Amino acid sequence: QDHQPGVEKLMKPLAVHIRPEYRGSGKLEGRKALITGGDSGIGRAAALHFAREGADVAIVYLDETEDADETVRLIEAEGRKGLAIAGDVSSSGFCRKAVEQVVQAFGGLDIVVNNASVQYVSMDLTDISDEMWQRHMDVNINGYFYITRAALPHLKKGASIIATSSINAFAGNDALVAYSTTKAAEMGLTRSLALQLVDKGIRVNAVAPGPVWTPLQPASWGLVDPQKVADLGKSVPMGRAGEPWELGPAYVYLASEDSTFVTGQTLHVNGGMIVNG
Ligand code: NAD
Repeated sequence: QDHQPGVEKLMKPLAVHIRPEYRGSGKLEGRKALITGGDSGIGRAAALHFAREGADVAIVYLDETEDADETVRLIEAEGRKGLAIAGDVSSSGFCRKAVEQVVQAFGGLDIVVNNASVQYVSMDLTDISDEMWQRHMDVNINGYFYITRAALPHLKKGASIIATSSINAFAGNDALVAYSTTKAAEMGLTRSLALQLVDKGIRVNAVAPGPVWTPLQPASWGLVDPQKVADLGKSVPMGRAGEPWELGPAYVYLASEDSTFVTGQTLHVNGGMIVNG
């Protein structure tokens, strides 16, 4: 399963996805966005920042929890259209339908954020089952490909595609071999697609977060080594993990006209961790 039960209590309470101090300035006025994994964590932070900047936002999510409804409620509270679509991005058929649903509901699509991912901890390569390995590939990299391929016919000049990669794509992680592999593969897709779409005026970039307080960390680490959750920020020069709201503005930058000369790039948001590549 993708989310292990009973780990919520390991979470730092009251994760903030957007601060009242964040004043939108219409950077995404009239734009229409689709964010996978937009119900929770970093994806929800991106969704709420986009809405405050004037975009209608659809989110794709896996599990039937109250998170998706709450995210839509918060998007609508910004005076924008919100839409939640349940399904699994590892299915190309679902991805096609989800994109069509967004285009029908919003009348177009300008911003696509490929953010949904699974992460399983395994300290030894021989513990990684075929299924576990395949699930990482299916969700993290195939999902990015399926959603993006389905979206492309709808994207016009000025559109922006963004992937959520990770520090692990660059630094590696001995406990997250399969996950880190997919995060590095996302970078390959991002850079190559950026080149392919440059003549169409469509930009493709990635955000690479360091450790961030979201349900992903306790869900993957919680039952293996809860101390790792408590220590989430230890490897960060700033001495702490990030909050979801600290990621949102990076997505706004890459989605908006503030970054018209930026494509094929990675924006590292990680409290000072030094990365190669
Ligand atoms: P999260 O668990 O809060 O949110 C991820 C969401 O993805 C889930 O709520 C779920 O609805 C969705 N999802 C998962 N599998 C799916 C599937 N098969 N189909 C559709 N939706 C699916 O996690 P998060 O930490 O906000 O992660 C968001 C992104 O950030 C991921 O790509 C992750 O790799 C990346 N990231 C997170 C961290 C961190 O420390 N939290 C660090 C680096 C990168």
